[in-house]
Amino acid sequence: MLTFTNIDEIKNYLKEKKKRGNVIGFVPTMGYLHKGHQSLIERARQESDIVVVSIFVNPTQFGVGEDFDKYPRDLVNDQLFAAEAGADLIFAPSIAEMYPNGYQTYVEVNHLTKTLCGKSRPTHFRGVTTVVAKLFNIISPDKAYFGQKDAQQVIVIKRMVKDLNMESDIVICPIIREIDGLALSSRNVYLTKEAREQATVLSYSLNYAREMINKGERDAEVIKNNIKQIIKQKPLANIDYVSIVDTETLFELEQIKGTILIALAVKFEETRLIDNIIVEVE
Ligand code: AMP
Repeated sequence: MLTFTNIDEIKNYLKEKKKRGNVIGFVPTMGYLHKGHQSLIERARQESDIVVVSIFVNPTQFGVGEDFDKYPRDLVNDQLFAAEAGADLIFAPSIAEMYPNGYQTYVEVNHLTKTLCGKSRPTHFRGVTTVVAKLFNIISPDKAYFGQKDAQQVIVIKRMVKDLNMESDIVICPIIREIDGLALSSRNVYLTKEAREQATVLSYSLNYAREMINKGERDAEVIKNNIKQIIKQKPLANIDYVSIVDTETLFELEQIKGTILIALAVKFEETRLIDNIIVEVE
């Protein structure tokens, strides 16, 4: 497996491969790879000739006072892990390579980024769309793989791809969870033992909400209040938001109808976790 750090080098390498008709599958990540990332790489492996994984802790998607400095990094282990999962190439650029002196261009999706996570992280999605747009220009993937774990990110990126007439197909992969339900995340390493135990409440509360809907509850407020009550029973949990929204517009819903997204963000001590489920109703 090859690792590139230079933009021109990987661009030229992939240009040659594309000329010969190879299908490029791309998995963008911030590294510290786990089974969630693995599922994306494996899916890309099934559907592409060349699988590229980017590993870049993107500074522009972290707000002031967020965890950019302490975000876990382990490139050597990631290289082994990605190769094992089926990657052909790693692209691991430096910050200076991606944002050289004089850099001043950003890609911003408007309304979709103002709600849910965008409320408490107002500059986050602008960083995400900027880096993904840059990575798409560098890699020119035929298909790019994203996790449903970051539900809003998926919707924002699909919007950007449509609005800017980008060529890549966006493939969404299901959330990979620990046995006890906690969604895998590189940030889970921050959790203390107590917080880790209490964090299972997130998937529990979402499943509880699904049960309520299956049993006929259609009032979104009632469901959200139930989720909040369950989460509040955990002393370390601090709710950022619990929302029930339309899966395309991200508008908050009053009634459960059609395909809906239940999304939440909760802080356990200093660690902000997100989780979500999609529920389809007749
Ligand atoms: P990250 O390195 O956290 O930026 O994530 C890179 C990609 O992996 C994103 O598309 C995430 O949505 C996806 N991902 C992260 N965790 C999971 C998970 N538990 N299940 C599925 N996909 C995930």
